[in-house]
Amino acid sequence: MKVLVTGGAGYIGSVTSEVLLNRGYEVAVFDNLSQGHRAAVPADAEWVQGDLASPQKIREAIDQHRPDAVMHFAARSLVGESMDAPFAYLRDNVMNGLNLLDACVSGGVERFILSSTANLFGAPASAVIDEQAPIAPGSPYGESKWALERALHWLSQTKGLRFASLRYFNAAGASEARGEHHTPETHLIPLVLQVAAGHREHITIFGDDYDTPDGTCIRDYIHVLDLADAHVLALQALEQGNRVYNLGNGEGFSVRQVIETARAVTGAAITERVGQRRAGDPARLVASSYRIRDELGWAPQFPALEQIIDSAWRWQQRHPEGYIDRALHK
Ligand code: UDP
Repeated sequence: MKVLVTGGAGYIGSVTSEVLLNRGYEVAVFDNLSQGHRAAVPADAEWVQGDLASPQKIREAIDQHRPDAVMHFAARSLVGESMDAPFAYLRDNVMNGLNLLDACVSGGVERFILSSTANLFGAPASAVIDEQAPIAPGSPYGESKWALERALHWLSQTKGLRFASLRYFNAAGASEARGEHHTPETHLIPLVLQVAAGHREHITIFGDDYDTPDGTCIRDYIHVLDLADAHVLALQALEQGNRVYNLGNGEGFSVRQVIETARAVTGAAITERVGQRRAGDPARLVASSYRIRDELGWAPQFPALEQIIDSAWRWQQRHPEGYIDRALHK
């Protein structure tokens, strides 16, 4: 089976491409390299440099590569940025996704997996969020993903497209070969590790006056390899119907707990400062992943925060410059 992976040069897309190839799938990566890295694309994957803003380019890619399924990772994905630049999300994420869906429907692609987000749930009332929780996107980013979930619903009804929507909580960690390298970096764990490595002076905690035990935000960190595994399971399960799953470890850690764990893993002091809250950040986001556990037998292989941070630390130490100047590799 062949999978077209949009955003396969990015963090989660490249790790998922690696896992797909390891499991015997063929992979074609479609990426505009606006945020991804060519060196992150597995050598065994076919490569198309293209932008989803161009309906023609994505149609050509589907005509040429004839995928059995599409996994759609290519999108802007920062809650905070979406509060400053809503049109980049409300317009570009949605339009690009619709261009892709249009090309899938007209090109005969019957299976589609969407990278969705916990931000669909805004600032949720319940401590642990399952798939029944009310949808109330917390930002233009979350709203853009909800628009695509609705488009999938209707394309399933009208065109028979089969889909899975995977609502990620906080992806983190690395495989042996692939890790997180954003420019600029905004995510907590890589930033904390940059402080540990001496590349950054301190980590700023975005607010310590939240209604949580230590006052800092709580998130559910899930290893990127466990996320990738969920994509493969969801793809296999599409034959039995559409899928919507929340994906996290089911355990929340505060910003201060992350910093403390990083100190233990790295042995570095890691200076912290307290700054302003970041717009769009809910106090607590923790997933219930019981549905995917029950229905697909998914279980995280790397559930411990120590394991997640340790894998990211090892990747960062092996690749202090990230993907810059790296040769293509498997
Ligand atoms: N965070 C922080 N300082 C930073 C970056 C992030 O305190 O320099 C906090 C952020 O407010 C959130 C958590 O760390 O509560 C995780 O943020 P991240 O950007 O990694 O992921 P998000 O939850 O936005 O998807």
